[in-house]
Amino acid sequence: MSVDARTLDLVYSILQNVNGKTDWKAALDTLLASLREEFVYDNVAVYMIDSGGVGLDVVYARAVGRGKHGEADVSWGEGFAGEVINKKEMVIYEPGSHLDTDRLDLPFLVGLPLFIAGRLSGALIFVRFGGPHYSPVHIRMAAIIAAVTASLLESKALQEARIDLESVQRQMRLQDDFVSTISHELRTPLGFIKGYSTSLLREDTKWDEKTQREFLAIIDDEADRLTHLIENMLESARLQSKTLQFKFQPLRLDALIRDVATRVHTHHTALKVTFDFDVVPPILGDTVRLSQVFENLFSNAIKYAPDSPLMISIRRGAKSLRVAFSDRGPGIPEDYLPFVFERFYRVPGERTVTGTGLGLYICKQIILAHHGKIWAESILDQGTTFFIELPADPKI
Ligand code: ADP
Repeated sequence: MSVDARTLDLVYSILQNVNGKTDWKAALDTLLASLREEFVYDNVAVYMIDSGGVGLDVVYARAVGRGKHGEADVSWGEGFAGEVINKKEMVIYEPGSHLDTDRLDLPFLVGLPLFIAGRLSGALIFVRFGGPHYSPVHIRMAAIIAAVTASLLESKALQEARIDLESVQRQMRLQDDFVSTISHELRTPLGFIKGYSTSLLREDTKWDEKTQREFLAIIDDEADRLTHLIENMLESARLQSKTLQFKFQPLRLDALIRDVATRVHTHHTALKVTFDFDVVPPILGDTVRLSQVFENLFSNAIKYAPDSPLMISIRRGAKSLRVAFSDRGPGIPEDYLPFVFERFYRVPGERTVTGTGLGLYICKQIILAHHGKIWAESILDQGTTFFIELPADPKI
């Protein structure tokens, strides 16, 4: 059997279509489209054994010919896919001729098992409604398409594994950084507490009352800082393990933000905050946790955008409320912006300002628990805006 130019062209087009494509579905679409003249079918679907190893998931389905019922209806192949998987080999099903039967009721099926990294993982099924029969050439083409599909799925799985691995590696690097940050963060207040209390206890020195009070005030502040830090660490651990309890009740977001702002103002009297609030309905939320979110945003603005005025708005949408919390600080470089909500993440070079990289992670987890969204937009030297979207509760 000699190979002719046409066959070589076909093989070449298969390789071209598959090589370098990152989206496996797009690659399979092009491949199938380029073979349409040689290999006619009405519907094609890829069924994969689900993670529990029991059922089948449809991961790809195209209807191109007769019986075009779109992607959703792939029931025509499910039982057959199960049979192919059980037999672990190609199965061809061709009904006898029934002249008076609607051709849509006469599926001619060819199914091929898909082996990914040597493991039986699913099946590729083609259907022709009402025939014609699958010729030996068609059967070989179907086998080639199945092999290509399996290799596309394998590279997809590898790609996903690589992304997971990269994320785990990043998390491990962050944990390493965290250990050094946290030991620094714990040592600093402890150093103050120890230093000032030792001074107060010295028997060879007498401190006047004003100095004593100053020392005690420092000890008090630093103990608060330690408590806050430890609370943040515990909170982040509870959020990660999903053991933090939320108490949802109707609340007014505008009043909550104003309350937090008033509390912050007592410690930072120079802070300028402008409010621009729509009239908003109450939402269902946890007052303590949502206050914590805004306390964190205030605390970050004070740390990273010192002296900047803040502008907070609430807009009422059809199904949600959107808060925008803006400062006019130095901003966050674009490359780092996607990571600021990750646990332990701190923008590189942020060593002059104390922090642990937990604040925004905690904010995000709290907002997610409210079925909301939080994200940031930033322009260098112009400022950062944190957006929070919370669902408006239709029941209240
Ligand atoms: P922390 O403040 O403890 O470092 P966060 O999770 O609160 O941790 O913030 C993550 C990082 O995002 C910070 O290290 C900081 O670099 C950056 N960031 C947060 N808020 C702002 C802001 N308003 N302006 C500029 N950078 C910010």
